Amino acid sequence: MTNLACVFGNPIAQSKSPQIHAAFAKQCGIELSYTRNLAEINQFRKAADDFFAQSESVGANVTMPFKHDALEWVDELSTQASRAGAVNTIVRRSDKFVGDNTDGLGLVSDLNRLGLDLHQKRVLMIGAGGAAKGAIPALVDAGVSHLQIQNRSAEKAQELTDVVNRYAPKLACCFGSQTLQVFDLVVNATSLSMHNELPDIPNSVFEQAPMVYDMVYANSPTVFMRHAKKIGNCDTADGLGMLVGQAAHSFNLWFGKMPNTREVLAQLREEA
Ligand code: NDP
Repeated sequence: MTNLACVFGNPIAQSKSPQIHAAFAKQCGIELSYTRNLAEINQFRKAADDFFAQSESVGANVTMPFKHDALEWVDELSTQASRAGAVNTIVRRSDKFVGDNTDGLGLVSDLNRLGLDLHQKRVLMIGAGGAAKGAIPALVDAGVSHLQIQNRSAEKAQELTDVVNRYAPKLACCFGSQTLQVFDLVVNATSLSMHNELPDIPNSVFEQAPMVYDMVYANSPTVFMRHAKKIGNCDTADGLGMLVGQAAHSFNLWFGKMPNTREVLAQLREEA
């Protein structure tokens, strides 16, 4: 039997997920047909109902703008999805559909791949949108000691800080720029690099941070990575490894096999 999976989104033509999952399936010897599913805006429920009416469908990924619709469609949520307030992975279990969120694990796996152990680390998260919300629960589980959230819209940073403080009361989590200090890791979870723009962050942050990560990925280093490198002596990375990492964790939820991400990441870089 060929297993079916897909990624729901709108737009979706740009998604690299079919290529990534095809490579994982080949690596793990699993028969999988993974397709792009362009759902109409406001029609996620119908698209998901139709896709999962096929008995061979094992699961799906969900990307913008449907991560919240997916949260409402599933029967049950994982802790990560519930904390993130968004679902990026749907898993068919025998009698129900479970919504999970592997974005944060994807980021943490990629940071580990880059040699960063997050235990007791101080993190600056720039952005308070879906990507930041998805990433933070896994950073908390990985043992970061301090989290500061900085966002253009301060009230969103404050709201997210309040949410994090509720599920992780022992973590030192705060928002705003007034208390900016020294960080072990700076993560750009805004979409600014896609428009070749930079967030409003003082240069001193980049002078001291050993690792700077941009969730946006591109064929060459993003403007954020180049800026950080120009100012500080930091290691930089884009979000392609996070993308492959979150896909690997989804694949593992569906098939119980964790694929080798390095191989697939190298393949994607070569093709870029
Ligand atoms: P959202 O739309 O939910 O959030 C966008 C974030 O960017 C908000 O914090 C927003 O601030 C900020 N922002 C946007 N425009 C500006 C601006 N002009 N100036 C300052 N801040 C700005 O998007 P997501 O959080 O879902 O995604 C963010 C990025 O992360 C995307 O580019 C996406 O491609 C990438 N991503 C990468 C993943 C990966 O696997 N590598 C996974 C998920 C996302 P404000 O709240 O003030 O509007």
